Amino acid sequence: MLTVIQLKVLEDNYIYLIHDEVSGETAVVDPALTQPVLDELDKKGWRLTYVLNTHHHWDHVEGNLELKNKTDCKVVAAHADWERVPGIDQGVNDGDAIFLGENKLQVIATPGHTSGHIVYYSADSEALFCGDTLFVMGCGRLFDGTAEQLYQSLQTLKALPPETRVYCAHEYTEANGRFALSIEPDNKQLQDKMLTVRQLRAEQKPTVPSTIELERATNPFFRVDSLSVQQTLGLLGENPVRVFTELRKRKDNW
Ligand code: ZN
Ligand code: FE
Repeated sequence: MLTVIQLKVLEDNYIYLIHDEVSGETAVVDPALTQPVLDELDKKGWRLTYVLNTHHHWDHVEGNLELKNKTDCKVVAAHADWERVPGIDQGVNDGDAIFLGENKLQVIATPGHTSGHIVYYSADSEALFCGDTLFVMGCGRLFDGTAEQLYQSLQTLKALPPETRVYCAHEYTEANGRFALSIEPDNKQLQDKMLTVRQLRAEQKPTVPSTIELERATNPFFRVDSLSVQQTLGLLGENPVRVFTELRKRKDNW
């Protein structure tokens, strides 16, 4: 079983430390910064085994080189991002795995936000580290990937076990939720979820992690096959990729 620690950095980024008690191995997912990571490692007495990057954007890789210098960790990222991830030691592809002790982290390719985006999934620990692909009640914007790719990637994540915890890289929940409500104003679970979210944010507490089950009920980007989403967009019965593309466009201009 893996221990997960969430560090809040910059405006709204989350860095995750993942630790295996038995072997003592530790990974950090998407270190936007170095110091908070080093401080936490110090505090816990953990040594860093891996940096795991989900994609090449600076707010996910900025700490790579310094962490390599100050610890003896290896940097893992998508093979496709070899040229654009600083300090990369090991390139991985869809279906590959990284081990922390005996804990398997499965690599799943989720292109869309970027063409090389990957996520790390632990079935045993029921945890998904999904970077900027899936957010609470939202999803990443399209940079150098396509809407069709992001739609397929989200379909893959949607099919994970419902109890899977969703550890995304940003606290975008409240704004995402307001957009979601504009698309599905009558979604009762979404209304309830937003009450909880507003309460948490008023107390400056994180709304992350979510779960796949909650996202299925509230995230419009997981719900492009639902009549209420299609109705709002004026796309009843349309092909889901078309609905998704329109939804993503609306969010961009919202
Ligand atoms: Zn990004
Ligand atoms: Fe980001």
